[in-house]
Amino acid sequence: MKKHGLSIILASFLAFVCSMAMAITSPLSEVKRAKAERAGRASSEKLALITGNEELLNQTERVIFSKSGETVLSICGNFATERGDSDEERVRNFLLQHGSVFNIARSGDNLSFIKETCGGGTRHLHYRMQAGELPVENSEITVRLGKDGQIRHIDGSFPEIDNFNSEVRLSSAEAVAMAESFLKLEKKRSNTNSEKFISVRNRTASICYRVLIPARKPLGDWEIIIDARSGEEVSRKNLLIFYEGKGSTYVSHPLKCDISVEALPQLIDGTLKGKFADIHNDETANASSSDGVFVYPTHNLHFNEGMMYYLVNRVHDFYAGLGYDRLDFPIKAVVRFDVLYDNAFFSVLENAMYFGDGYRFNDMAREESVCFHEYAHAARHQIVKLKYEGEPGAIDEGQADYFSASLSDDPVIGEYIVNKMSKPWLRNLTDQNRYPENLSGNVHEDGKIWGGALWDLRQALGSRICDKLVLASLYYLVPESNFQHGLNAILLADENNYGGSNRDKILEVFGKRGITTADSGRLAFNQAHLRQMRRFNELQNPVSR
Ligand SMILES: [Zn+2]
Repeated sequence: MKKHGLSIILASFLAFVCSMAMAITSPLSEVKRAKAERAGRASSEKLALITGNEELLNQTERVIFSKSGETVLSICGNFATERGDSDEERVRNFLLQHGSVFNIARSGDNLSFIKETCGGGTRHLHYRMQAGELPVENSEITVRLGKDGQIRHIDGSFPEIDNFNSEVRLSSAEAVAMAESFLKLEKKRSNTNSEKFISVRNRTASICYRVLIPARKPLGDWEIIIDARSGEEVSRKNLLIFYEGKGSTYVSHPLKCDISVEALPQLIDGTLKGKFADIHNDETANASSSDGVFVYPTHNLHFNEGMMYYLVNRVHDFYAGLGYDRLDFPIKAVVRFDVLYDNAFFSVLENAMYFGDGYRFNDMAREESVCFHEYAHAARHQIVKLKYEGEPGAIDEGQADYFSASLSDDPVIGEYIVNKMSKPWLRNLTDQNRYPENLSGNVHEDGKIWGGALWDLRQALGSRICDKLVLASLYYLVPESNFQHGLNAILLADENNYGGSNRDKILEVFGKRGITTADSGRLAFNQAHLRQMRRFNELQNPVSR
């Protein structure tokens, strides 16, 4: 029954298309295709249809073409209609009479009246192309009437179709299962829905399922189009609407600046969860705001949440600017963790950051360098799982301090949090710690050597090159990497990104910190070492060479 209906419509499509010369329209939803589409010139055939009809021409005030120039986007004027039993019938007759202007088939089989609406002081009649019960996407034509009931605007055209694949091989449930698997759906917020419709690509119509997935992971209101015949994923869009709110924060920390109100970008749902940060409060309910305003005084339990949202987005943007995308999801950050907890940490098991409000320390959530440091651990963790002990642990701490300091353009880490203990800072990357004399076995202490060397390198190369180099070097590390290996990683990153042009400066900077490409021959050997060893062996065992 339905197939029969479709084939009649297909026949009328073909009849219509054959009567037309060249013309092509791409559905608006196909962003990729739209990009490739040439910015067109108004179709001369379509213009001729209007200019060649004296009555229509006399009534037309303006014509606007779609971006491609191939179809009419809007015609304004004062169009007389013949009598009809209803306004809808009058309008339908007018549309059919001038069908070729709007790509409407002569028979009118595919012209479906959808509804009449009121708004802006007049009535609007909505039509679309339909095959049987299935709507054709991006085929809306809306006719707007004047006070006198005559047609003033006709907005939209039908797409042109040469071929129609009416075959359906997938059930709705199968399409849903495929879309969820293509998305790598881990968790839903509520149920997935699907609807059948006709998609038009390259003048070919085919039946598709529009699968709508409200997902928690990956976060989004996903619209995935699945071809009902081939099961192919036609397109994917995230319909989630992000909005910008604002919140009170310290841009750096209370010793350096006053509170200011800053933009909180890409919020989603009235809480401090956005595209790249998901903030939780361990002491009280999470902050919420219907208008996106999270402005609180410092004694309010929610102040830290707004500040953390601001900071996480800033550090996300910093990494994004370096071409990094592995934390392009709302990373969880918990403030007011535990009771008077004196630390902040990144949890590898949860991929989440935690910030105590401090007892001996000042509040960990109120200093930008603490957040940036923890985030750097998170960013590094997505690249290489360094062991959190010995030299690999020190490399991790050093790079976390480095990125934190580079982003805030200040080598001092933890200035505010230790102020309560009358100390000037927690760590300072201008300290001249050296390898191996200052090794202590503590990852934070030993991290000062590595972080200090990276800061020296930034002084030598400039922040832009150094940030990229240090980030790139993380991809060359292994979980057990020691300082020598870390230096090799930076040299190779330089070779692969800057043609090795910074090699001498890198060796000089690290050399001053006591870190060279080879140690004295205990665990690491340079070529000279290896040649010496070979000569020694030859002298020892001249016969067996
Ligand atoms: Zn750390």
